[in-house]
Amino acid sequence: MTKKPSPARFPVGLDRLGGGSRTAASPLLRPQRPVHEAARDAARAASPSGLGMDSSAVRRRMVERLRAGGVDHEAVLAAFAAVPRHEFVDTALATQAYEDTSLPIGFNQTISKPSVVARMLSLLFEGDSARTGGSLGRVLEIGTGCGYQTALLARLARRVLSIERLKPLHDKARDNLQTHRGGDVRLVWGDGRLGHAPNAPFDTIIAAAGGEDLPAAWVEQLAEGGRLVAPVHDAASGGQVLLVVDRRADGVVQRLADAVHFVPLKSGKQ
Ligand code: SAH
Repeated sequence: MTKKPSPARFPVGLDRLGGGSRTAASPLLRPQRPVHEAARDAARAASPSGLGMDSSAVRRRMVERLRAGGVDHEAVLAAFAAVPRHEFVDTALATQAYEDTSLPIGFNQTISKPSVVARMLSLLFEGDSARTGGSLGRVLEIGTGCGYQTALLARLARRVLSIERLKPLHDKARDNLQTHRGGDVRLVWGDGRLGHAPNAPFDTIIAAAGGEDLPAAWVEQLAEGGRLVAPVHDAASGGQVLLVVDRRADGVVQRLADAVHFVPLKSGKQ
C-alpha cells in the first residue's frame, strides 16, 4: 500500500480528487456514482413513470387483480395505487414490478409479493371498527427491506417507525423513501426482535420476516386496542403462518391466519 498523501501537500481540492478526503467531496468531484443510482435516475429522467409506459395504469391493473383476489379495504387499495413499486426494485426488474411476485432486493432478501402485503395490511384493519376506514396509528414495522411496504404504511398510518438489521438495505430504503415518503416515517438500523422501547407503545406492529417464535418485546410494546401481524413458524405444517395478536383491555387474544413464506427473522444487526 502506498502511503496516503498528506492533504497539506496539495492545493485545496486536489487532495479530494486523489481520494484523500471523501467526506467533503462535492458531487462535481465525484466522477462515478454507483451504477444503480445512475441508471435509476436516468430512467426517472427519461420518463416520469420510469417504466416507459404509464405506470399508474399498470398499477391500477395490479389493484384490480388484488381486488379480484379478495382485498376489499379501499384505503389499502388506494395505497397500492399510489406507490410506484417499480421504483423500489432494480431497474432491470422494473418491468416485473407489477406482477404478483416477490423480487430480489439484494443481500438474499426479497420485496414481498403484493398480494401477501395486501393481505397483511387488510388483516390489520379487519373486523376492527375503530380502524375500519381509519388509521393504523403509530406503526412499528420490522424488516424495512427496500422500503416499499413502509411507503404503503405511511399512507395508512399516523407515524411509521421501521427497523432493518442490514445496513445496506436500511440505506437503500432511506434513498428510496426520499422521493416517496407520504407521511411521518422514521427508519432505524437495528435488531427488530427487540422492538423499539423508546417509542412504544404501538397501535400496529407488522413484521416482514418470520422467526421460530414471536419476540416477547413485540407483544409488550403493543398498545391496548393495538394489533400485531407477523409470520411465525407453524409446528403443525412445518411452514410459516400469519399470527394476528390483539391486545385488549382484558388481555391478549391471538389467532392464526394464512400460510405464508417469508425470509427468516434473524438476530443482531449487520
Ligand atoms: N417489506 C420489505 C420486505 C423485506 S424482506 C420490502 O418491502 O422490501 C424482510 C426484511 O427483514 C429483510 O430486509 C431482512 O434483512 C429483515 N430482517 C430480518 N430479521 C430482522 C430483524 N431481526 N430486525 C430487522 N430486520 C430484520
